[in-house]
Amino acid sequence: MTDHPAESPDVTVHETLPARVLLGAGARHCVPDECERLGARSVLLVSTPSAAAPAGELADALGPRLAARFGRPAAHTPVAVTADALRLVDEVSADAVVALGGGSAVGLAKALSVRTGIPQIAVPTTYAGSEATPVLGETENGVKTTRRAAAIAPGTIVYDPELTLTLPPGLTLTSALNALAHAVEALWAPDATPVTDALATEAAEGLLTALPRVLDAPAHPGHRGHLQSSAWLAGLCLAGTRMGLHHQLAHALGGTYDLPHAALHALLLPHVLSFNLPSAPHAAARLSRATGGADPVAAVARLARSYDGPTTLADLGVPHDGLRAIAERVAAAPHPNPRPVTADSVEGLLEAAF
Ligand code: NAD
Repeated sequence: MTDHPAESPDVTVHETLPARVLLGAGARHCVPDECERLGARSVLLVSTPSAAAPAGELADALGPRLAARFGRPAAHTPVAVTADALRLVDEVSADAVVALGGGSAVGLAKALSVRTGIPQIAVPTTYAGSEATPVLGETENGVKTTRRAAAIAPGTIVYDPELTLTLPPGLTLTSALNALAHAVEALWAPDATPVTDALATEAAEGLLTALPRVLDAPAHPGHRGHLQSSAWLAGLCLAGTRMGLHHQLAHALGGTYDLPHAALHALLLPHVLSFNLPSAPHAAARLSRATGGADPVAAVARLARSYDGPTTLADLGVPHDGLRAIAERVAAAPHPNPRPVTADSVEGLLEAAF
């Protein structure tokens, strides 16, 4: 998404963010060289406990260049956690930050980088796609606010599919469906361009092809690589277009009830597809191509239902009497969507997801 020239409403604008992207098995071993390339002498390594083994390996490889480690990034980037990490940046005069982990680690590095100007290297271990976007969502006192600025986007991204081998099947499934949601919403976005259409189509096809293969053979490096590179394309869709009803719902529900990000996206997606696709023939045609002609709603619903964790809002712990308030909030919040949104129609969707 980009600022539209007000005087030329029919003109489409596409902006591409500069990023150096390394892809491939073993790419994580290039991180020290990437630090050298940035001229970094005092690196802060941010990682989640799930990435303890590769983070330890990376810390050793960074040698004297490693200034400090921060091991407790949290979902939705709480500003209190960022403040703690910022103190560490100051203490060690960090001149670069490396994030190794899921969207939580990547989000913290973005928050540090945008506050200090130090460059960041993102090494993602899930399919959330945050590393490819100039978007940062932060929470303070239970309220999540999102901002967008080119300076937020990591300048270096390292995609190593070997880092995703430890993702359990459930998280593999829900995180990949989280990625698919970015591609789906880019297909019906009002500011879609030929570039985002191409990215979204390729991303959807790749995710829907690679995901069942990875679930069948989770340790297959080729399938993992295909899934990860498709999730990268999906992240670029999130970077390049304005998201619609699906992301509004995920934001409102996730922020209000502190729900697991990927599981929430996964269970909502078939319902939003069913709601929107009749009003989005272009997206429907491209998704049908991605599913080899099968009904996209049924194909995604089948995947979402196969999750061994919560597959309904009720299972996630959302109270039934909270649905109307979420529907009203989402209907009142300005966002682009192919089908007009009312509180009643959104409440119907939420009832179905409940
Ligand atoms: P996450 O980083 O919180 O990770 C989810 C869980 O998976 C955690 O328990 C983590 O420890 C574990 N995990 C991660 N990688 C693993 C691996 N390889 N093996 C085993 N376990 C692993 O969640 P996420 O879904 O990656 O990201 C969600 C966060 O990212 C949210 O805060 C969301 O708002 C943000 N996000 C931001 C953007 C953006 O553009 N700003 C885009 C997508 C997501």
